[in-house]
Amino acid sequence: MRKALLTCDNERTPVSLVAAVRAAADVERRVQLDKALAVLEWVAARQLPEDRAAEERADDHLDEMTRDRFGSQALHLAGPGAPVVEEDEAYEIAAALGLSRQSGSRYVGDLIELRYRLPRIWSRVTALDLPLWKARKIAAATCTLPEAGAAYVDAQLAWAAARTTLAQIDRTVDEAMVRFAPDLLPEDPTDHRDVIVDLDNARHGLVSIDALLDLDDALDLEDALRAGAAALKEADSDDPLGVRRAKALGDLARGQGALDLQTDSARRRPLVVNVVNGQVTCEAFVRPGLPVSVSVDQIRGWCAAAAKVTVRDVLDLRADYSTESYAPTEKLSAQARRLHPTCVFPHCQSTSERCDIDHVVEYADGGPTSTANLAPLCRTHHRMKTHARWRYRRRFDGVFVWTGPMGQVFEVDDRPPPPLVE
Ligand SMILES: [Zn+2]
Repeated sequence: MRKALLTCDNERTPVSLVAAVRAAADVERRVQLDKALAVLEWVAARQLPEDRAAEERADDHLDEMTRDRFGSQALHLAGPGAPVVEEDEAYEIAAALGLSRQSGSRYVGDLIELRYRLPRIWSRVTALDLPLWKARKIAAATCTLPEAGAAYVDAQLAWAAARTTLAQIDRTVDEAMVRFAPDLLPEDPTDHRDVIVDLDNARHGLVSIDALLDLDDALDLEDALRAGAAALKEADSDDPLGVRRAKALGDLARGQGALDLQTDSARRRPLVVNVVNGQVTCEAFVRPGLPVSVSVDQIRGWCAAAAKVTVRDVLDLRADYSTESYAPTEKLSAQARRLHPTCVFPHCQSTSERCDIDHVVEYADGGPTSTANLAPLCRTHHRMKTHARWRYRRRFDGVFVWTGPMGQVFEVDDRPPPPLVE
């Protein structure tokens, strides 16, 4: 059957053409998974006994030179609690994969991290719900976390991992670090603040600037650049936004165009603390809809300086909210964006914060403004659904089912995770 699909045939219909592409992509995914499973079978069969792994971990403080003399080492390729493998055997696996020592070690390490420390995320990979490359991004970020931290990330990200943006992965890992391994955080993260004006590498009269600022200062700079760019536009500048922002920064340097931020009250920003399913998330809204994870100490500092502190209504991701009106309430929109981290079109990576909230069944056709009938769609996919031939519906079990113009059907599973077993 597959052979028939893959042969060249001028008579093929659009339906069979897109089906052939899809079948080939499925084969590729399956082969990638088989390769990963084969590696993990080797790990399970050849992992070092605990005493050997522990013994070598105790030797970890020995410097590299000393250890190098002792032949093959126990390789800790993943985080605490994960199996440990024999170094010389690992390099044989890397060679068998056709990878360098470093790439092979990273590949094997990511798989071990996924299989043993991120089991929920791994189960999405084996179900072919989640591409391996994305699961590996998560694994690479969690391998320094203690077991409880990795378990936290696993629980937070597994259910919508395929739809989680890389920024969200970083944010969740940062949160886990704050909660479970505060000692691993840099002692004073503000120590690295710096501004580099790269005059040595000026090209075509342009110089790049790289800066690491305190969040509060960065927010004020952003406000000033935005205001400066808007003022230039009002003064009839035809320059694109980027150019106007760059000019605005120059104006600031010459002491022109600075916002009047002298009074303390003008500098004060509202602070919003969210409580989602009983967990407080430390978030300050840099601008509406853009949450930033910060430490409790930062929050404490900001609370003292904030003009207004709001503890936002408890948002329950499992509750069914609804309203009579067409426009969703703030709570409904926030819930839809939390439940669906990205646009719910197949494989779309647009963060839901920048999406429209769509009625799956049109309001005009009797679709309610409710938790089950709302989903974020990016502008492009909203247009595909409203003005082109893509269609979607929400199945009784909560899975979104999309149908493309050539008849292919795609499922998007954004259902909330089962409750955590403590
Ligand atoms: Zn989209």
